[in-house]
Amino acid sequence: MPMPEIPNGQAMAQELVYTLADLKHWNKSTPTLAVLGFPIAHSLSPMMHNAALQSEARHNPRLETITYVRFEIKPEDLKEALPLFHSKGFLGLNLTVPHKVIAFSLIEKIDPSASLIGAVNTLRRTQSGWEGFNTDGYGLATAVKESLDIELTDSNILLIGAGGAARGAAVECLMRKCRSLTLVNRTAQNLEELKMHLKGIAKEVPINSVSQVSLLEPDVSGIARGVLVINATSAGLKPSDLAPIDLVRLREPAGVFDMIYNPPKTQLMQQAEELGILTTNGLTMLVHQGAKALEIWTDAPSSRTAPLMLRAAREALALIR
Ligand code: NAP
Repeated sequence: MPMPEIPNGQAMAQELVYTLADLKHWNKSTPTLAVLGFPIAHSLSPMMHNAALQSEARHNPRLETITYVRFEIKPEDLKEALPLFHSKGFLGLNLTVPHKVIAFSLIEKIDPSASLIGAVNTLRRTQSGWEGFNTDGYGLATAVKESLDIELTDSNILLIGAGGAARGAAVECLMRKCRSLTLVNRTAQNLEELKMHLKGIAKEVPINSVSQVSLLEPDVSGIARGVLVINATSAGLKPSDLAPIDLVRLREPAGVFDMIYNPPKTQLMQQAEELGILTTNGLTMLVHQGAKALEIWTDAPSSRTAPLMLRAAREALALIR
């Protein structure tokens, strides 16, 4: 099968969704970065990264030739795809759902940022294979500080969810020495598994878990006053989704950070606003994890690329809404 024509220019390349079949015929000689997911068509990463690459070319002309594209790769194909991306000369890869945990066991070198989480979202080319990083935690901490003016360090945190995003967030909160971490999740077994995973990392930070059902009860006095609430569940991705907790049950939360960014305002955020609690969505987290990944690949400072990426992400979201 012939390889589809690769359009010239970053703006056009980001429109396409490539597949494993395209990768097998890949013969592009210019350097390429890619995001892999299944599905992937919704990803804002190509728009963010290509905008930053174009702008950064003023400081480093080599970056003008780099294109960031997206690949739809099925989870069962990742093992075959990763060495192929390497042999075809790709400079770096981002991984999104469902690849972050699967890739962890497929690559040769893991940065400490990823090893405690057990998941990677950024792969950097080495001579012999891929080195894995996880920039999600950095993205969360930077976004919480920027949007809510709250440091994870020394905060009491109520984290909702027990999937991949919650695991990364929990590790980041512990590494930054939050004051306490309370975990909430719909499925008790997943909650317990996350708690077990965190046990060795927590050191002196107390970790509590609360079932989602008990959060509907009137007495949640076990939860500290002034918690930072972080939603790391998918509850809210559909506008009709109910909020995963009722904020009225909590004592004066300091802020509500919802990792969801599309839709831009979830019911949880809506309630926070009505109660006068500072709240923000997850777009800045997406941007900061992306800016850190670009820094890992190209040395472009994340502090300089993040504002450009945010503008590009907002423009892309406006187009798809
Ligand atoms: P995941 O591994 O599939 O985990 C999903 C989590 O959501 C689980 O804890 C699940 O609970 C919970 N959940 C799903 N539907 C729910 C509902 N209706 N009510 C209550 N809980 C529900 O997904 P993930 O990768 O962790 O991602 C979670 C969310 O974070 C997604 O919305 C994703 O878009 C977002 N995210 C954002 C960024 C960013 O940069 N802004 C980065 C990563 C992820 P059970 O255990 O009960 O199934």
